[in-house]
Amino acid sequence: MYCPFCNADDTKVIDSRLVADGGQVRRRRECVACTERFTTYEMAELVMPRVIKTDGTREVFDEEKLRAGLQRALEKRPVSIEQIETALTQIKHFLQVTGEREVPSRMIGEEVMTKLRELDEVAYVRFASVYRSFQDLSEFQDELNRLNALKPDAESE
Ligand SMILES: [Zn+2]
Repeated sequence: MYCPFCNADDTKVIDSRLVADGGQVRRRRECVACTERFTTYEMAELVMPRVIKTDGTREVFDEEKLRAGLQRALEKRPVSIEQIETALTQIKHFLQVTGEREVPSRMIGEEVMTKLRELDEVAYVRFASVYRSFQDLSEFQDELNRLNALKPDAESE
């Protein structure tokens, strides 16, 4: 791939290892031209089932939204990015092995809660009660955003 620093078209892989419970390959690369180093993550692009919202509408599975939600729920908790990525990989795998072309959003929400519970009991307790009063994941995301905005120590970036 092209070097992100000088756009040279020849970079070499100097280290490669499995991360996120084997769901991703992390590669350390070095540009042959400018010798700058950078990291790439590679993961299989598998087809995810579509999400059935409680109002019956369908939407595409949004991994970024899920990642952002997990990160928000685990903000300032002793949980690493690596652990969050592993949980994401497991949630996606869970959805893929259902073999369904469409899954209810509630099913995803419950699986997220299961993973959250494994990762951090405090974050789980804090958010599970909130989640359960919501009908679907997007409403839950909105609530997380609202809670975050209300936090007195929230840093404005
Ligand atoms: Zn370069």
